[in-house]
Amino acid sequence: MPTEKHAEKLDTLVTTVASRLTPVDAVSFVPVAKLVLQDLVEHFEVDTCFLRFNDHELGATVLVAEYPPRPHIPEPDPIGVVYFKDADPMFALTEHQKEVVITRPEVSGPDYNDRVREASGVPEVSLAAVPLLSGETTTGTLGFIKFGDRDWTPAEVDVLKAIAALLAQVQARVAVEEQLRYSADHDSLTGLSNRRALYSHLDARLSSADPGPVAILFLDLDRLKPLNDFFGHGAGDGFISTIADRLRASCAPDDLVARLGGDEFVLVLGGSVDLAEAELRAQHIRDVVTERVRLGREVVSRSVSIGVAVGHPGKVTTGALLSRGDQAVMAAKTKGGNAISVFTEEMQAESEKRNLIELSLRGAIADGSLFLEYQPEVDLSTGRIIGVEALVRWHHPFLGLLQPVSFIDVAEATNLAGELGRWVIRTACAQWSRWSSQAPGLDLTLRVNVSPGQLAGLDFLDVVASALKEFDLRQGALCLEITENAVLSDLTRTREALDGLHELHVEVAIDDFGTGFSSLSHLKALPVGTLKIDRGFVMNLDKNPEDRAIVKSIVGLAESFGLELVAEGVENAEAARALIDLGCHRGQGFLFSRPVSGAAIGALLVKGSIDVAI
Ligand code: C2E
Ligand code: CA
Ligand code: CA
Repeated sequence: MPTEKHAEKLDTLVTTVASRLTPVDAVSFVPVAKLVLQDLVEHFEVDTCFLRFNDHELGATVLVAEYPPRPHIPEPDPIGVVYFKDADPMFALTEHQKEVVITRPEVSGPDYNDRVREASGVPEVSLAAVPLLSGETTTGTLGFIKFGDRDWTPAEVDVLKAIAALLAQVQARVAVEEQLRYSADHDSLTGLSNRRALYSHLDARLSSADPGPVAILFLDLDRLKPLNDFFGHGAGDGFISTIADRLRASCAPDDLVARLGGDEFVLVLGGSVDLAEAELRAQHIRDVVTERVRLGREVVSRSVSIGVAVGHPGKVTTGALLSRGDQAVMAAKTKGGNAISVFTEEMQAESEKRNLIELSLRGAIADGSLFLEYQPEVDLSTGRIIGVEALVRWHHPFLGLLQPVSFIDVAEATNLAGELGRWVIRTACAQWSRWSSQAPGLDLTLRVNVSPGQLAGLDFLDVVASALKEFDLRQGALCLEITENAVLSDLTRTREALDGLHELHVEVAIDDFGTGFSSLSHLKALPVGTLKIDRGFVMNLDKNPEDRAIVKSIVGLAESFGLELVAEGVENAEAARALIDLGCHRGQGFLFSRPVSGAAIGALLVKGSIDVAI
């Protein structure tokens, strides 16, 4: 072949390779590299061409592409990943090789030929190894093998260098792209999949033709916060990383482990896994996670709550499956932590009901399907009615009559507490003024429950003040009931609100007293006038000595702070007598009356008292 023609063909080769490589990305890299190797094999008339990358972290050279493909690749492939430390001289050379190395049959060592023979079954070869360079680092090798002898002209060697330079460039670009993709899909602290990767993995699993079910384990470490507070965030991070490593180690290759942030992890189990199997896996995971962890000089361990849920592809969305897992883990937490809970049909029904309630609650406040019942509060000895407590109910269009337990929490969670509370206060005050016009000079305390979210609302005091004014309540007629835990959740905010109520001459009672943890100092500091003894202590007062002791101490407390006492849940005459004996003289409960309509209370007020034999 004339030299000029030859040079021209070499140029064309470089151009072809360049145009193949220019649009390449991480995904298309290997297939395109194979095409390039094929071009090279055909052009240089060699028997094999290969591309290897150096993984300096691993200390190995890794086969990326070869042409032609070997017909029988042993398992494991002896030339797949070759560690430099136990590589024969030819492979060892490629770790830091800077120049093109050409070997011919008579000069290459027996070791190398042995290895190639093992991999390809061919006895004698000549070889050209061209380094891929990035600055001072050798990032890989482009290699050519000819069975028998082959010499390389200087012009050919220049072209090899140019092609190796192109490959090195693309290699660097692909590495950056892979790094970016890695950080987009991985949690930076633990290296586990992140939320985004979890969603796309579940999307794929749940839209596949696989019949399923797809099982997830939702993990939430118990009481991690004290660990952070006590040892610092560095230690907390160390702890999380250790847990992440253990999760990774106890997973099969087709499982996915993701960190949702904080101390929450989700495992998507590979293959079809039913609830029973998933629960077994959860038990194993719990054992692994709760083993002790060394943090510097300390050894700590944390229990974990695990929620187990399954869903079938095509029947459930990623969001729904994760929400099942979330509900199951909540149930595990409610059991006191360190528990495994399986998502059940009841939880499903409960969550659907909650969703429905959430959807229709706002409308209910406007459309009149909420209503109030009132429960009288009496002087236990005489039966005289001295107060009423307003209790909200809801005629739900589909769910029927709903008690407050099923929607007050929803109102709190959805910022509707303020709106709902406003409606309750106004409606109760309006009712009070109706009773007052039926019975002039009415001396009756109107008790209205206030939820924490409502108390924290910015317009809370305005709402109360305008209701008092509009319905003309006398001073001290309104008493608002707040729970102990609402008092404690934000003491400054609560104090402001309570001081404001004090100025409006509105009384304040602590509801469900005895179930929370309010310390005496809080009680002393707040303008509270009444304690309502939780019905849990009252219902079995006559039979349970422990309840008696608690009520007795509450009575003592009320006396020393000058507080009024009201007992709730008085169900029988024995309990009423016990209360009187202990020094509590006011009470409400089924013994006297269940909560009834405003009109029914009106009739009772005309009589003035409820006759019950005590
Ligand atoms: P609570 O404030 O402790 O209200 C007393 C609850 O005890 C009422 O339940 C009442 O029906 C029930 N009860 C009364 N006497 C007896 C008795 O002798 N034995 C037993 N076992 N129970 C008795 P209800 O109406 O289901 O209300 C439950 C809770 O919902 C209330 O507890 C209160 O915390 C909340 N709630 C009710 N209405 C409202 C409201 O308008 N706003 C807010 N924020 N919460 C409300
Ligand atoms: Ca109450
Ligand atoms: Ca109560």
